Amino acid sequence: MPTTNPAVRVRIAPSPTGPLHIGTARTALFNLLHARHVGGTFVLRLEDTDVARSTEAHERDILDGLHWLGIAWDEGPGMGPGGDDVGPYPPYRQMRRLSTYAEAARRLLEADLAYPCYCTPEELEADRRAQEAARQAPRYVGRCAALTPEERAVREGEGRRGALRFRVRPGIVAWDDLVRDRVEIDTANLGGDFVIVRADGTPLYHFTVVVDDAAMAISHVIRGEDHISNTPKHILLFEALGHDVPVFGHLPLILNPDGTKMSKRKSQTAVADYRAQGFLREALVNYLAFLGWSPGVEGEDVLSFDELVERFDITKVQKGGAKFDRARLEWLNGQWIRRLEDMDLVDRLRPFVVAAHDRGELARVPGDDELRSLLPIVRDRLPTLAAIVEIAGFLWLDEIRPDPADLVPRRWDLATTREGLRAAREALAAHDAVTWEADELEPPLRALAETRGWKAGDLFMALRVAVTGRTATPPLFDTLVALGRDRVLARLDHALEVIADA
Ligand code: GLU
Repeated sequence: MPTTNPAVRVRIAPSPTGPLHIGTARTALFNLLHARHVGGTFVLRLEDTDVARSTEAHERDILDGLHWLGIAWDEGPGMGPGGDDVGPYPPYRQMRRLSTYAEAARRLLEADLAYPCYCTPEELEADRRAQEAARQAPRYVGRCAALTPEERAVREGEGRRGALRFRVRPGIVAWDDLVRDRVEIDTANLGGDFVIVRADGTPLYHFTVVVDDAAMAISHVIRGEDHISNTPKHILLFEALGHDVPVFGHLPLILNPDGTKMSKRKSQTAVADYRAQGFLREALVNYLAFLGWSPGVEGEDVLSFDELVERFDITKVQKGGAKFDRARLEWLNGQWIRRLEDMDLVDRLRPFVVAAHDRGELARVPGDDELRSLLPIVRDRLPTLAAIVEIAGFLWLDEIRPDPADLVPRRWDLATTREGLRAAREALAAHDAVTWEADELEPPLRALAETRGWKAGDLFMALRVAVTGRTATPPLFDTLVALGRDRVLARLDHALEVIADA
């Protein structure tokens, strides 16, 4: 594996028109993995020319989200507020590159590879309707394609401003896609000559993306499959501008579980939401890497970033769509939670406990030592970091309210439950602080169940609900130890009151 390969330059070019999407993160990751695998450079460029929809908040969300995932760019905008661009091809934001587009537009116009188009929205709309009525695909009819200089002058004289339209040549545009092999598209299917600069001077995506990819010496354009139909337009523009055409690779779509294209309505798409729910960056990166690629080795499921870099091969990316499988992500997250160092895990759990406290769901926030001492009994049960509140929150409440319906085990009635909890209280009260250990507490309670002819599971369930308010907890005797003698006895008394007159 070469350590540096200046010939390979890839990029992610997000538009800050929404929060960081799982699909953008996946595309960014594949670009980064490819760059790191071959020793190339990974560039980030903000495509913010859609001024109406771009916001600074989305931009922050995208940059922060990528940063959090560890998807670090070699060149691009600085991380801090107002941070300077890093890299030899600044600026890395399109709204600061407007003069570059104006210059490229002038070149195309002078070479007659593009022309001013004065069609009004009404004319274009009428064309569209006529085509629809004739069951034709929408395309620009070419009304302004052959205007003479005099005809243009007349329109300019009337105060009309022309949009700039790029001339689409007839024929086939073809490329060897890294993922999809040979792709050939007839330019007759591109909808005719297309606008690259609006009448108000705003340059449009197809144009800016090509001007910038050329200016930033991008060698490989790796992006989602939804861009395949854009690629012929881009190739035509690279050619018209006299630039080398980069290599293209189109990644398979990410799909909802039902096989439709991933959407906010059916799947959680914002990276920030996964982060807020307590997914680890390591797990998310590991998961995203497998959305359309895999090392092809049985048992290689849990891979670190470095291991992914080592194995990643862009030419092994699958063509078919990749279904988003949340259960698998949760499984991977659990695997990664198990791999963290104790203090690292404590550091990552703490914000979730603090947040629950801030929401009023917990009476107190445990210290680091307390959290750490719990790890042996909770670690394997955490699908997410946020689940700590669910699983162990009963430890940090002053009072729990066990539901009488849960307190009475299925095979028991109220009277048996009262009797069972009273007897359990007595057996537990016989312990002092010294013998309050899981392996000391368990045998007498088992013996109690046996003497009374109860199933130990029933007695334990009543006890569990009485002291935690929940039917699912870490192992019962570890839980009793974590709660401590005083709280266990007090909660048992309270539970007995709850069912005293139930
Ligand atoms: N700004 C475009 C997007 O967010 C970039 C597409 C591309 O990679 O060319 O979809």
